[in-house]
Amino acid sequence: MMNSIASAPSSSQAQDAAAGILASLLERGFKRTHALVCLLREMAADPRPRTLAEWGECPSLQERNGVTLYRLMLKLEQAGVVRRVNLGERAQCFQLLPSGPAPDYLVCTSCGGLEQVETPLEVRVLEENLARKTGWKAVRHELEFFGVCPNCAENSNEAAHLAVI
Ligand SMILES: [Zn+2]
Repeated sequence: MMNSIASAPSSSQAQDAAAGILASLLERGFKRTHALVCLLREMAADPRPRTLAEWGECPSLQERNGVTLYRLMLKLEQAGVVRRVNLGERAQCFQLLPSGPAPDYLVCTSCGGLEQVETPLEVRVLEENLARKTGWKAVRHELEFFGVCPNCAENSNEAAHLAVI
């Protein structure tokens, strides 16, 4: 039931996705700026949720002012293009909103590593039931599972073993 993080889309797919999003944003009154174009391209090329600082480290965004990037990210969030993911101590991460259901994640409490997990069917059923009962529309959830990833578990086992020796 677990998937590793989906492999990165090919660069032409990512470019197409970024161009499509950009076109719809321009229609909605966004200004075409170099920062916007670069950020959309970077985010389309890498579907993982990453912190603002991590996005800022992308080669095409390195020269951007952090405040500019933050404001831009907030505008994209308000426009429904980007979603904010709370991953515990990893601070707030951002990713392009996938066209399908938003993915859920396993978060390693030791190294902050992420693994995308398939949302349990029961959760989808719960959303539908909630919507039916309350009359709310577009009911969705944010769900994170926390644990220790296999790498960290192995390392801590080794450390414990060494300590015994
Ligand atoms: Zn880990």
